[in-house]
Order: sequence, then structure tokens, then C-alpha cells
Amino acid sequence: MTKTKYVFVTGGVTSSLGKGIISASLGRLLQARGFSVTIQKLDPYINVDPGTLNPYEHGECYVTDDGAETDLDLGHYERFLDIQTSQANNVTTGRIYQSVINKERRGDYLGKTVQVIPHITDEIKRRITLLGKSGKYDIIITEIGGTVGDIESLPYIEAVRQLRWDLGHNNTAIIHLTLVPFLNASGELKTKPTQHSVKVLLENGIQPDILVLRTEHQLTKEIRKKVALFCNVNLESVIQSIDVSTIYEVPLLMQEENLDKTVMARLNIEPRDGIDLKPWRNFVKKLKNAKREVNIALVGKYVELYDSYKSILESLTHAGALNDAKVNVTCLHSEMISPETVNEDLAGYHGIVVAPGFGDRGIEGKIFAVQYARENEIPFFGICLGLQCAVIEFARNILGYKDAHSTEMTNITTHPVIDLMEEQKGVTEKGGTMRLGGYACELVEESRVYKAYRKKLIRERHRHRYEFNNDFLEEFESKGMVAAGINPESNLVEIMEQPGHPWFIGTQFHPEYSSTVLNPHPLFISFIKAAVEHAG
Ligand code: GLN
Repeated sequence: MTKTKYVFVTGGVTSSLGKGIISASLGRLLQARGFSVTIQKLDPYINVDPGTLNPYEHGECYVTDDGAETDLDLGHYERFLDIQTSQANNVTTGRIYQSVINKERRGDYLGKTVQVIPHITDEIKRRITLLGKSGKYDIIITEIGGTVGDIESLPYIEAVRQLRWDLGHNNTAIIHLTLVPFLNASGELKTKPTQHSVKVLLENGIQPDILVLRTEHQLTKEIRKKVALFCNVNLESVIQSIDVSTIYEVPLLMQEENLDKTVMARLNIEPRDGIDLKPWRNFVKKLKNAKREVNIALVGKYVELYDSYKSILESLTHAGALNDAKVNVTCLHSEMISPETVNEDLAGYHGIVVAPGFGDRGIEGKIFAVQYARENEIPFFGICLGLQCAVIEFARNILGYKDAHSTEMTNITTHPVIDLMEEQKGVTEKGGTMRLGGYACELVEESRVYKAYRKKLIRERHRHRYEFNNDFLEEFESKGMVAAGINPESNLVEIMEQPGHPWFIGTQFHPEYSSTVLNPHPLFISFIKAAVEHAG
């Protein structure tokens, strides 16, 4: 294949239909047929990136190795395709406008009125085709965020309409994902929302090639025919996406529905028959036939929305499958945990994860959770703020510094065991200014983390401003907390562990960003193994 082909995925009827999972599943199938694939997401909001958003808004902020703060769908892309994405894989309206306005100020459009069409749409098209210019990819899937009909999605839909002409119809495919609701009262599946949603696309000049219909019940041939007839697609292009117990089954279902073959035909790609889904099938089989169960408490403050901890939950799932264990995760609100309730709150869990986070809301509850895990010898995994809580707990209860704290939370402590990084001290802007992306870390050879990774030099992704204060390192190590991973350039402590405890590890980085189905993360594997052992 010489020319890069483009697949666009739009969504209709309602949000949260799972465009990200459908895009990732299609990507996985095409990749399993030997194509080189990547996926990008276009988000119609005005924030330049989701780094400044509260997790309650759109769920977790996912960080790529090159340090981009991105939409959580990029996590799905990486987990499904086992590839690395980058800044170029996530574009927001804010970023588009920012570049256009910068160009305008520079005088690039001198004399012209700058308008949505063509200037904004040209910038969208430039961004969409950017990854294709590398020549690395046979197929690029572009997920358009939002729902068709939204005012803010319009420039994206228009850009896709134009791109069909620029790139040629045989080089583009448009998949539209909709919902076929089931009405209990009449006992019927309804296609009207799909018809309307396709009409909206048609009004904007786009005829979708393939319709993927989310449904809770099997679609009959009659329903598929009806949709095909009203929406101008052939019957094979009406694809059912029925609810399943795990997102990891979706690629297999999409293969049964021939989504990949239909896309290949649409893109005029020589059909490739061989498809290697064996490792994927094995994973799903293990996931669904786990022999045992472990109960994990995830202590955080955004627990009302599971998407806030998406990558952690998925990493636990990957590690569970590898350990033949079903991982039951309960998200516990750290604001509810107090010294009076902690014994009851955390009783019965085989492992405790203290989550990343920002600000002081719920911080004390997290510290009590750490203390409980340490004293009761429950496997403990602290991630980013979770590590920082473990450090504070140790300083308060083992070193006896009752006022020990992070200077993120207070500036009146005499024991700032977690402090602002040197390079952060002059930073005043909030967006994109944390320590972000992949950094090297050297492991101590006798450590538990070294045993898990089985190598000395690792690279992990970061997203934080504060760090362990090295002034206290000697004291910590003299009392049994070991800095098991250090950044070789900056000397920052990246991992703390307590060798005297069955499994007590905190990482300043976010291992959850790099766990994939085919390569589950070594620390999550080791943590779940410890939880399985703890469960007996
Ligand atoms: N708020 C902490 C810091 O900056 C931890 C961040 C996190 O957990 N991602 O440094």
C-alpha cells in the first residue's frame, strides 16, 4: 500500500456510545491483518488540552510519552493497539483556534478576513493529515468527538466533507455510530433516532458508508434492512454492536460482523484474509474464565465517576487476567475515611491503591488508608499523589514528624517531605507546565520493583509538580523506606518501597498509562500477584 487511507468515526443520537472503543477495536482488527494503523481524536471543546479539566468533566487526563495531556480515548487506542500515541493524536478546537490566531497575528493572512471556512477547516484538515505525512501508517482512524448536530462539531464535519474530495472517495471511509434504543412499553427496537442522525450528516454533506448500531438486543435482519434502506447504505454495512461484559470483546464481535472487511472494501484495499487475533483471544478467555477473585480498594476523591481512574482500572484488569484472577475494584471516597472508620472502610480488601490527585480535598483519608495498609500488611500501591501520601504517612508515624506534609497542601509545615520541584518554582501558568511525559528511572537491583521489571533502566510517564524532598532521604532509608528508583539525571526519587512489608510500593510516575492488553504493566502484575497471595 502506498497511500495512507483515512477512516472517520462520527457519533450520533447521544454521547457515550463508545466511539473510542469502536475506533480502537477497528484499529486492532486492521492491525491484526498486518496494516500499520494509528488513531487520533478531535475534541470540539475550547480548552487547548484536557490538562486543565477536572476529571469530573471528561474523566481521566491521559498522558502520552511525549508529554501531551490528552483525552482518555487515547488510552484505549494504546491499550488496544499496543502502540504509542503522541501530541499529534489529540487535537482540540482550542488548539486549532490557537494556531489560526497565532498565524493571524504573525500576518500570515494579511489583508484577509479570517473565517471558520476556510481558515479553521483548513487547520483541522492540516492536523488530520499530519500523521499521514510521516508515511508510517497504512490507515489512520480519526475519531470526531461530540455528537453530530452539536454546534461545536460543525467545523469538523465540514472538514471531513472537504477531505473526502481532497483525498478521494476511495481513500476515505466514514463510520457513523448510533443507538438503537429498546422501548420496553412496546417491546420494540427503534431505528428512528438512527435515521434522524444520518439525516443530520446528510444535511452537512456527508453520506456515511458504514453504520455501527449500539443495541442491548440482537438486531433482526428486518431492522438491518430498514436502516440500510432509509440511510442509503448496503446491508453488509449495517453493523451491530451489542452490549458485552467487557470492552475487550468488542474487537471479536466487530470481526464477526465483518467491520474490518467492510472497511477494507470501502477503502479499496486488497483484501487480506489472514488475521492474527490469537493473543487477543487468549487474553479475553483468561479474563472471562478467571479461577479466583481479589478485592481491591481504590482510594480517591473522584470516585463518583469511574472514568476518572480509567487507566488504573484497565491496568488492574490486564494484570488480573495474567494472574488468572478476577479483580473486583471498589472505589472508596477518601473524604469519607477517618481514623474512626478506616478499619471498617478497608476491611476485607486484598490490596489497596491510593490514586493520583491534586489539592488537599480528601488528603487525610488517603493518608489513613496508607497507614492501614502499612500496619495491616495489605499490599499497597501508591500512584503519584498516592506515593506522596505514603511518604507523608511514614514521616508522621515512623519518623515522628507530626506536621509532615506536602507543600502543595500547606506551607506552614516544618517538615516539607514533599516539595515543589526546583524547575517548577518560577512557573505561573497552569496549562501544560507540569513535569509531563516519559522520563528515565534507574532501579536498585535488590528491590522488589527490579524483580518485577527485570531490568535496571526503565522509562515511565509523569504528571506532577511536587516531588520527594531529598533532604529527608537518609532518614527515610535508615527507618526502612527505600528509594528503589531514581531519575539518573535529576536525582529525583521516582519509586519508594518498604522491603519489610509484603508489597508496599509508591511511584511518582503513572504506570497505568503504559499497560496494554498484550503487554500488561509489570508493577500491576506484581501487585495483583501479591493481592492473590494475600487472599490465600
Ligand atoms: N498533586 C501532586 C503533584 O503535583 C500529584 C499529582 C498526581 O497525582 N498526578 O505533584
